[in-house]
Amino acid sequence: MSHPALARLQQGLAAARAEHLERHRPLRDGMQGAALEVDGETLLAFCSNDYLGLAADPALVAAARAALDACGVGAGAAHLVSGQHRYHHDFETAFARFVGKPAALLFSSGYQANLGVITALAGRRSEVFADRLNHASLIDGAQLSGAAFTRYRHLDLAQLEGQLAASKAADKLIVSDLVFSMDGDIAPVDALLDLAERHDAWLYLDDAHGFGVLGNGRGGLTDRARASDRVVYLATLGKAAGVAGAAVAAHADLIAWLVQTARPYVYTTASPPLLAACLIESLRQIEAGDERRARLHARIAQLRAGLATLPRGTLMDSTTAIQPLLIGANAEALRVAQALRARGLWVPAIRPPTVPTGTARLRITLSAAHSEADVARLVEALHAVV
Ligand SMILES: *Cc1c(COP(=O)(O)O)cnc(C)c1O
Repeated sequence: MSHPALARLQQGLAAARAEHLERHRPLRDGMQGAALEVDGETLLAFCSNDYLGLAADPALVAAARAALDACGVGAGAAHLVSGQHRYHHDFETAFARFVGKPAALLFSSGYQANLGVITALAGRRSEVFADRLNHASLIDGAQLSGAAFTRYRHLDLAQLEGQLAASKAADKLIVSDLVFSMDGDIAPVDALLDLAERHDAWLYLDDAHGFGVLGNGRGGLTDRARASDRVVYLATLGKAAGVAGAAVAAHADLIAWLVQTARPYVYTTASPPLLAACLIESLRQIEAGDERRARLHARIAQLRAGLATLPRGTLMDSTTAIQPLLIGANAEALRVAQALRARGLWVPAIRPPTVPTGTARLRITLSAAHSEADVARLVEALHAVV
């Protein structure tokens, strides 16, 4: 027996199922890597954001183990209540230096960082300007801030300029993915900075998919953006960095402001210090990671060459580790994903609301952990099933 409130929820689930929009969480065992144990079978996976293959790297595991012995598991309380662990502090210092900004703050996740930064920089008298394809966490941050929320067509800076010129808001904040998470294309950082300067706006760039990969690992900031006080930079640390968390880098006073006002920072338990110790090692690996990046870029070139002659499906225009194959209809994207799965390959079908209606796609992600043979196997399978 279900009461009416539960029945409405059950109708919602049934509707999602009927539209091929129901989401599942495959059950995994074992290590993160190119091959994954999923629901009892071993699959060659093209779905993780572990672009450099650091998530199970022995040096990171050793750093975590040493820190575990030195400080235990839990942080105890929030940073402002029971203190910032030295590992947190040392990571923030190393991260700021690495990305070329004066100061940094470590959040427990990118989602929390985006809520925290946007609500700290924008309020009821502000206006937030956002690319239409921004990550969900940036949209949620803008909505939570209570600011006027204005979206511009993907990468349409002429439209953004008109919106900025028309704005009467006291504070303006431009927010963009630096590498777009479902498309793999890159925002024009200097052109966005030009607009921010001309209209006295902050520019917040979410480099979840560029940090570790672009710019010798330092991410997608340009020299001008690194030097600019109005650019606020976010790297998430569960992707190429292979661990968890997110770091915001900016002017020291902006970081000080976040410590005072960013509620998802203030009102949450600090992440386990052992993760910060692990992140310090991850930064070292990223800094010394030219070989990993070269391997990743070789795989990207191999995939693009191999799929250039695919009869159907459109490989989107991307130079990054995110290589989406546009399919269109939800059911067709699912069919292709399932046919790949039957061949032992795991590539996720991404459907609305994560992407716009009618643009369901296979989101292929590549990693330095993939071998040439792995990518060859994917290319061959796609030619057989698309
Ligand atoms: C993954 C992602 C986030 C969220 O980061 P988490 O650390 O996973 O919470 C934020 N922004 C973008 C663009 C992302 O891809």
